[in-house]
Amino acid sequence: MLIGTYSSSLVLISLCVAILASYTALDLTGRIATAKGRAVHLWMGGGALAMGVGVWSMHFIGMLAFSLPISLGYDLALTALSLLIAVLSSGFALWLISQPTLPWLQLGFGALIMGAGISSMHYMGMAALQMQPGIDYDPTLFSASLAIAVGASAAALWIAFRLRKHTPYVRQIRGAAAVLMGIAIVGMHYTGMAAANFPEGSFCGALDGGLSGSGLDYVVLITTLAVLAMALLTSVLDARMEARTAELARSLTLANQELTQLALHDTLTGLPNRTLLADRIDQAIGKVAEQGGCFALMFIDLDGFKPVNDAFGHHVGDQLLKAVATRLRGHLHSQDTLARIGGDEFVLLVELQELEDAMDVAVKQVNLVSRPFRIAEHDLQLTASLGIVLYPGNGLDQLELLRNADAAMYHAKNAGKNGYSFFDVSMNSNARQQLQLLQDMRAAVELGQFRLHYQPKYDAALRQPIGAEALLRWEHPQQGLLLPDRFIGLAEKTGLIIPIGEWVLDEACRQMRQWMQQGHEEWRIAVNLSAIQFCHAGLVDSVARALQSNQLPANRLTLEITETTAMRDADASLTVLQKLSDMGVDISIDDFGTGYSSLMYLKRLPANELKIDRGFVRDLEHDSDDAAIVSAIVALGQALGLRIVAEGVETDRQQEFLTRLGCDSLQGYLMGKPVPAEQFMAGLMEVREKEVKPV
Ligand code: C2E
Ligand code: MG
Ligand code: MG
Repeated sequence: MLIGTYSSSLVLISLCVAILASYTALDLTGRIATAKGRAVHLWMGGGALAMGVGVWSMHFIGMLAFSLPISLGYDLALTALSLLIAVLSSGFALWLISQPTLPWLQLGFGALIMGAGISSMHYMGMAALQMQPGIDYDPTLFSASLAIAVGASAAALWIAFRLRKHTPYVRQIRGAAAVLMGIAIVGMHYTGMAAANFPEGSFCGALDGGLSGSGLDYVVLITTLAVLAMALLTSVLDARMEARTAELARSLTLANQELTQLALHDTLTGLPNRTLLADRIDQAIGKVAEQGGCFALMFIDLDGFKPVNDAFGHHVGDQLLKAVATRLRGHLHSQDTLARIGGDEFVLLVELQELEDAMDVAVKQVNLVSRPFRIAEHDLQLTASLGIVLYPGNGLDQLELLRNADAAMYHAKNAGKNGYSFFDVSMNSNARQQLQLLQDMRAAVELGQFRLHYQPKYDAALRQPIGAEALLRWEHPQQGLLLPDRFIGLAEKTGLIIPIGEWVLDEACRQMRQWMQQGHEEWRIAVNLSAIQFCHAGLVDSVARALQSNQLPANRLTLEITETTAMRDADASLTVLQKLSDMGVDISIDDFGTGYSSLMYLKRLPANELKIDRGFVRDLEHDSDDAAIVSAIVALGQALGLRIVAEGVETDRQQEFLTRLGCDSLQGYLMGKPVPAEQFMAGLMEVREKEVKPV
C-alpha cells in the first residue's frame, strides 16, 4: 500500500478556492434573480463557467496537494471531462435556483443530480491518474463522500435560493454561507481521497502525455482566481449599475409625480385645477351610477375681489386668494374637492347624504368668506356668490353641470351677492337669451335697428329749451323697443359699443344740424360715452369726423361721461378730455355724486358741466341729506366755474327747489320724456302752452 501525503499549504489554498467559488456562485444567483431578458441567460452561462471552474480547480488543487511516493500525471481528456462535468452541474444548479419557487421535492431531486455531478467530477479526476492497477476504494468512505456531496449540494441550493433576493446584510450572510459551503465541498473531496487506497507497486499510467510537472498548481490557481475575480468584479459592477439605474428610475418617477401635481393643480393655492376637477366630477357621476347617492357642485365667485386687487396690488390679491382657499378647504371632508378654476372663481364638489344638505354647506361657505381677512396689515372684506347644481337632476355631464352652476352663480350675484342660488332651468334660458341678443346685436347696426330718442334740457331760470340729450334705443324685431340697460352692458363686454357709439355720434350730430337749420342755433346736443369708448384710441377722430360730415360746429356738441369713468385713470382721461376740449366740444360729468371724485383732479378737468345724479333729485323733498348734497354740488360747481344740470326732475316742487338752489339747467319727465325726433318739437309746444297757462 502506497502512503500518500498532503501539502498543507495547497490544502489551505483549495479551501480558499472552494469558499471563493461558493461566494461567487451565491453572488451570481443574486444577479440572475434581478436580471431581465437576455441578461438572465448570459449570467447563467457565465456563472456556470465561473462556478464550474472554481469547483473543479478546488478539486484539482486538492489533487495536486496529494502526493505519492511515485510520480503522478493526469490524463488530459479525462481531466477536461471532469471540468466539463463541473461546469454542467454548476449550470444546472444556477438554473434550478433561479426558478420562481423551489419546493422540497425539487430541491431533493436537484441535490441528487448536483451531488452526482460533483462526485463524478471528483472520481473522473481520480480516474485521470490512470493508476495501474486500479485504485482500491474503501466502500464506507466512498459512500460517505457521496452522501456529503448530495447533502452539501442540498444545503448549498437551499442557501443560494434563500439568499438570491437583496436583503439587509446580504453580503455578510453570503460570506458566512460561502464558508460553510466551501468546507462542505472540501470535506467531500478529502473524504473521497481518504477512500482511495493505492496498492503497493501501483504506477501512474497518465505520466506519459498527461498533465504533470511542477508549476501546474500555480497555473491552475492563477487561472481560477482570474476567472473568479472577473466574474465577481463583473457582478459587482453590474449590481452597481443596476442600483444606479434604479436610482435614476426612482428620480424619474418623482419628477413625473411632480409634473402631474403641476399639471393638475393651481400653482398659487395648490388646489386642484379645472382639469382635475373635470376628472373628479366624472368620477362622482360614475360613483352615483354604480352605488347611488348624490352630490352637489357649487360655483363660488368672490364679490369685490377686483377692487382689492386693483387698490392693494397683486401681491395682496394673491395672499387673499390663498387665505380664501385655506379657509374654504379647512371646513371640508377629505373626499370633497375644492378647485380653483379662474382668477377669483372656485368650484366645490361635495358628496351628500341627502340633497337637502347642500344648503347647509352653501350657507357655511358663504359665511366663511364674509368674515374679514387680515392680509399684510389690512383688514379686507369680501363676500361670495354661490351657484349650486345637484346631481342627479341639474345636468348630465360635467360640462352641463358646470355651465348650470355658473348660471346659478350669476343669479346669486344679480340677487344682491353674498348669498347662494340653486339652479333652475329658467336661469339657463336667461343665458341663452343673452347669447341670442348678442347675435342679434351684431346685425342691428347694419340693419338700422337703432334709434335715438331725445329728451329736452331746459334753462332753469328762463324755462326755455336749450337742447336735448340723445338716448339710445334698439328697435328689436321680436322684442320691441329695448332700453339701454338691456343691451349697453353686453355691447361694452363684446366691444360692439364702438361701432354703435360711432353711429350714435353721427346720428345725433345730423339731428342737431337739422334743428340748427330750423333756427335753434343756440341749442346743444348731449351724447353719452361709455367707459370703453372713452378708452378707445379712435374716439377723438370719430368725434371730429361726426362733426365734420354733418357740418356741425364743435360747441353745439356736449359729451357726457360718468364721474366714475372720468376718475378711473385720471391722467389718461385728462389727455383725452383736453383734446376734445381743445376741439371746442363741451364736456359734462354725468351721474355726479355717485362716484368718488378727487377735488384736486376735478379742478384740472377741462369740464363745462356737472350733472347731478337723479338719485339725489328723487328724494330731495323728503331727505334733508340729499338737499344738503345738492346745494354742496351746486356750490362746488359754481366755485369751479361749471354749469350745474339736474336730471330726473319729475315734479314741480323739485323744479322749484333745484332752481332756487342755483341749478343752471334741468332735465326730466316733468319737462319731457325721451321721444323720437319727430315728436320732439310737438312735446316742446305742450310745455310752452303749460307755461303760459295762468297759475
Ligand atoms: P343717463 O345718461 O344718466 O341718462 C338719463 C336716464 O334717465 C335716461 O334713461 C332717461 O330716460 C332717464 N330719465 C330722464 N328723466 C327722468 C326722470 O324724470 N325720471 C326718471 N326716472 N328717469 C329719467 P335711459 O334712456 O334708460 O338711459 C339710461 C342710461 O343709458 C343713460 O343714463 C346712459 O348712461 C346710458 N345711455 C343712453 N344712451 C346711450 C348712448 O347712446 N351711449 C352710451 N354709451 N350710453 C347711453
Ligand atoms: Mg347722460
Ligand atoms: Mg345720468
